[in-house]
Amino acid sequence: MAETIYDIAVIGGGPAGLSAALTGRIRNKNIALFEHMDFSLKLQKAHLVDNYIGLPQVTGKGLMQQMSAHCLAHNPELIKEKVVNIFPGDEFFTVATPKNVYQARAVIIASGVVATALFSGERELLGRGVSYCATCDGMFYKEKDVAVISYSQEGEHEANYLGELCRNVYYLPQYKNELGNMRSGIEIIKAKPQSIQGDSQVEKLVTDQGELKVHGVFIIRQSDPVENVLPGLELDGEVIKVNRDMSTSIPGVFAAGDCTGKPWQIAKATGEGLVAVLSAISYLEQADRKSAAPAKD
Ligand SMILES: Cc1cc2nc3c(=O)[nH]c(=O)nc-3n(C[C@H](O)[C@H](O)[C@H](O)COP(=O)(O)OP(=O)(O)OC[C@H]3O[C@@H](n4cnc5c(N)ncnc54)[C@H](O)[C@@H]3O)c2cc1C
Repeated sequence: MAETIYDIAVIGGGPAGLSAALTGRIRNKNIALFEHMDFSLKLQKAHLVDNYIGLPQVTGKGLMQQMSAHCLAHNPELIKEKVVNIFPGDEFFTVATPKNVYQARAVIIASGVVATALFSGERELLGRGVSYCATCDGMFYKEKDVAVISYSQEGEHEANYLGELCRNVYYLPQYKNELGNMRSGIEIIKAKPQSIQGDSQVEKLVTDQGELKVHGVFIIRQSDPVENVLPGLELDGEVIKVNRDMSTSIPGVFAAGDCTGKPWQIAKATGEGLVAVLSAISYLEQADRKSAAPAKD
């Protein structure tokens, strides 16, 4: 059976991604919507939202329930996996998650902002001991020592998997929820990470409680720095550089919501999601016209 090539892959199921996916479906496009956690856990924490026009005094959770139900009623393909890499190709993009690879002709990045500052050394040692995905990179650390810094319970699964492979796994939860079932042998460390150090490879993780000698550091956040997911994407400071039509420096890649910069507000996110998907549809139509045009001698 031929593999599906989606028209548009939407990365992130917050207000921006849901808005893009909804209009994409209304325009009858084949949409893959990637959301690896619950729909905008961040916004779900808001006790009261009172500036989203037409829906006064709504809770963040209530608003996300309404937005996700509205979008899903139009049947985008919801893929509950984390996108870890996007590879541009001649005819389509390959979108990789720890479990699978998917193909799409255009991509909309709506992954929100990285809520925490990067650690000193994180960017420099990425791919040389720093990783955002245990399932993808765990095998490189067989019989070695690793630390997992996690901002959500998702990190517990990653640490449990690493526990099957590695000699020592240190788990540093940076969230308040109680820990779930963790594999025996994993050492839980209540400490605040400060920096990742090493010359050409990770050698240690420095925390406010001391140092851990490790070969690898896995960092599990709600959103990863986008330039690591799609290398070569032009940034404007920390955010994705976009044009008025939400196109980015890479043809066929659009961006919307908090990941394109301030104001970090729901109305901006949903508006940009709409513009991004309409622009992505124009991009697809243009590509179709080009491929249908007779070749010139
Ligand atoms: C406590 C709080 C209160 C707020 N109150 C208000 C308010 O009253 N009014 C207002 O206008 N704004 C408010 N905001 C801001 C608002 O939440 C954001 O502006 C809005 O959620 C941005 O939407 P977004 O879709 O761009 O990003 P997000 O809501 O951050 O959604 C991004 C989604 O992408 C998913 N994701 C990220 N990376 C990946 C990946 N690699 N693969 C798959 N999925 C991925 C995440 O899990 C997340 O669900 C508040 C924010 C907070 C934290």
